[in-house]
Amino acid sequence: MNLIITGGLGFIGSTFILQILDKYPKFKILNIDAGLIGSNKNNLQSLKNNKNYKFIKSDINNTKVLEKHIPHCDAIINFAAESHVDRSISGPKPFIHSNVLGVYSILESIRKYKKKLIQVSTDEVFGSLRKGSAMETDSFNPASPYAASKASAEMLIKSYITTYDLDIMITRCTNNYGPRQFEEKLIPKIICYAIKNKKIPVYGTGKNIRDWIYVGDHCNALQKVLFKGKRGESYNISASTELTNLKIIKKILKKMQKSEELIHFTPDRLGHDYRYSLDSSKIQKSLRWSPKTDLDKGLDLTINWYLEKVRK
Ligand code: NAD
Repeated sequence: MNLIITGGLGFIGSTFILQILDKYPKFKILNIDAGLIGSNKNNLQSLKNNKNYKFIKSDINNTKVLEKHIPHCDAIINFAAESHVDRSISGPKPFIHSNVLGVYSILESIRKYKKKLIQVSTDEVFGSLRKGSAMETDSFNPASPYAASKASAEMLIKSYITTYDLDIMITRCTNNYGPRQFEEKLIPKIICYAIKNKKIPVYGTGKNIRDWIYVGDHCNALQKVLFKGKRGESYNISASTELTNLKIIKKILKKMQKSEELIHFTPDRLGHDYRYSLDSSKIQKSLRWSPKTDLDKGLDLTINWYLEKVRK
């Protein structure tokens, strides 16, 4: 199988590439990534001499590059995005460029060459939920420019599925954690600050709730969607592991044998969503996927990875 992975130098895309080539060494992967925030070449250093892996540094808005390579692939999995909510609040424009216009460019190419696309989206499109969990069919209520850009991309995709009858699937996942995540995101930030005994900033009261999933479990779910997903469908992906931000910080500090005195409360994020939650029974039943890594195991793997990185 020939796959194009867009945004493969980032946290989740690189994990997906490593997982696929480990399981299917004969697959051919072309990674198209612009090398923006979140990207890290070292994420895929181990594939340097792998003949079945190729990297092209390019923006997904470069239609010449897309049109040269898309005709030769079996499917495209789009991870490329500006992904940090705080950055979307201080400057939304790059989010429209990558997350909306970038998806439009990919859609135009797959329309021409009739290729399969998986769009990697997020639970944030549903906005903040006081209770219950969002189903695939629930309506969108994005709060941040990041969430709105991802929701806009989904709306555009839905219109292309309906109008042009394209082979596209959308996945929406909860907050990922694991090795190789960019250090400004919550869990790596806690770990890296704790290693240096630096004060760990916590927004507001720290009572906001996020639903966490180990990145390897998310990538396994994406494999199920790639091989068995149904054309035109969307799939929610969650490990149903909800914790307040404060709880997860305290849990990590305990595992690292660091003092809770490192916790430092800061003014709340603008428009900070209280809680995200997804119901993932559809993918669990129809594609027989389930998460395999519980929070304790996943956090241990993650903490050890960052500790190892510091030692190198
Ligand atoms: P990341 O920020 O670590 O990586 C994003 C990658 O996309 C980077 O390598 C960047 O260079 C690349 N990129 C951005 N704009 C580009 C463009 N215009 N052209 C080419 N490459 C571009 O992000 P991540 O955490 O790995 O997230 C990957 C995807 O998963 C995103 O679409 C994100 O919305 C989605 N997602 C993330 C999470 C999470 O918890 N991290 C949860 C649900 C969904």
